[in-house]
Amino acid sequence: MGALDGKVALVFGVANKRSIAWGVVQALQRAGATVGISYAGKVLEKRVFPLAEGAGIDFVEECDVTSDEQIEAVFTKAKERFGKLDVLVHSVAFAPGEDLGGRFRDISREGFRTALDISAYSLIPMAKHAAEMMPQGGSIMAMTYYAAEKVMPRYNVMAVAKAALENIVRNLAADLGPQGVRVNAISPGPIRTLAAAGVPGVRAMIKYSNRVSPLRRPITQEDVGNVAAFLASDAAALITGETIYVDGGYHVLGITLTEEDLDAL
Ligand code: NAD
Repeated sequence: MGALDGKVALVFGVANKRSIAWGVVQALQRAGATVGISYAGKVLEKRVFPLAEGAGIDFVEECDVTSDEQIEAVFTKAKERFGKLDVLVHSVAFAPGEDLGGRFRDISREGFRTALDISAYSLIPMAKHAAEMMPQGGSIMAMTYYAAEKVMPRYNVMAVAKAALENIVRNLAADLGPQGVRVNAISPGPIRTLAAAGVPGVRAMIKYSNRVSPLRRPITQEDVGNVAAFLASDAAALITGETIYVDGGYHVLGITLTEEDLDAL
């Protein structure tokens, strides 16, 4: 018996096997869920389709989340196919390269608009359509990052987008809670993925956070997937509007010097 037996999940944001979304898909499947996926852009087809086929997933829909029509079309197809939805996962983010790295003060108006639209606003229409397919309640989750709260070098416009996303999660939790739909954010520490590669210096950030975070170990897509499967399950029935950290405890640190660092100083 899996914790998600009989549940249907739709996961947005699979780009390749390193995607956090793919770690989530695998964890949801391990727990017994039926999973459909969505990806963006024709160039990803050659990676996404073989992955899906290997995992026995045959609901694979393209969707650019800047388009209301495309978002609606995916949910219409999901309704025709599955009849209902129990779980929605938003694992989507984008900012123009020139607005990541560089100086915060140089963020462009257009870059701000694009990053906020794709990485934050998109959760609102997705949650609306998903909730319409969740008459018995359900679980919606989105991927955020600690840069929403504390300044992280070079994360720039994406930090603003994540702050907006976390606010949207809390508002959706209040809006959809009365119908039994829970909405939460998962905040992983840095992981090497396609999106992470867009942040200059991310390798150093990963190395650093593995060295100083209390649990002293790399964070994997599987770690995030397991938390997503928990949030999707009835075991998380009373958790909503929350940000759950999967960062080895990094976010509890005030100063990030280790005992060894202090001894060496
Ligand atoms: P990824 O590149 O595998 O996933 C990002 C996804 O966003 C891709 O599938 C991409 O196609 C999709 N996307 C971009 N623009 C889109 C659009 N217009 N329409 C639809 N989809 C679009 O990288 P990832 O690291 O797995 O990122 C997934 C989520 O996790 C993002 O929200 C990211 O900010 C968040 N996150 C990542 C890390 C990390 O260190 N990798 C840490 C914290 C949070």
